[in-house]
Amino acid sequence: MLIYKKFVFNPFSENTFVLWDKTTFEALVIDPGCYSGEEESELERFLIQNKLNLKYILNTHCHLDHVFGNAFLKAKFNSAKLILAEEEVTLLKGADKQSEMFGLTFNTSPLPDEILTEQTEIFLGKMKVVPLFTPGHTLGEYSFLVETNNICFTGDVLFCESIGRTDLWGGNQAILIESIRGKLFNLPDETVILPGHGEETTISHEKKYNPFM
Ligand SMILES: [Zn+2]
Repeated sequence: MLIYKKFVFNPFSENTFVLWDKTTFEALVIDPGCYSGEEESELERFLIQNKLNLKYILNTHCHLDHVFGNAFLKAKFNSAKLILAEEEVTLLKGADKQSEMFGLTFNTSPLPDEILTEQTEIFLGKMKVVPLFTPGHTLGEYSFLVETNNICFTGDVLFCESIGRTDLWGGNQAILIESIRGKLFNLPDETVILPGHGEETTISHEKKYNPFM
């Protein structure tokens, strides 16, 4: 059984998730957004106090609010593999520039240890985390599905009654809508959606109430 914990970090109120296997304590972090020293300590303390063995750091995409904590986590938990899509590397390399534009500081992120594809095998204990290619908000955004728990982490693709913005570099609304219809809306209706910002929702709720769909 996998368990998760949500943190809300940084000036953009980004959701950072820790997901772990109750039996083996193997863990991953999705989009470490910790920005201040206090947020970094909060995340580190949580991992240590729960005796979690951090195996992976996953980035759904590489807008700065989703990658602020990459450098910190890699420095603290060196054996954890940073995994993200090839198409996101340009954004990751430009995150320093993104930060400057907002007047924020940025700890330069290391480059990925492994490139994410839909074939990437991510296991916590015996539990599988399935990457789903869901571009449109950015060129190479992925969602992460945990079938055994009926949950899906959707980054900035699908929000509660909203969708990701597409006016930034690499954004394309038609592609984003296709990602949601073709991938996420094919998941069972009861699947719980855990987005990169805001509250959780379900596929059935979004099919009924999402005004963009
Ligand atoms: Zn984003």
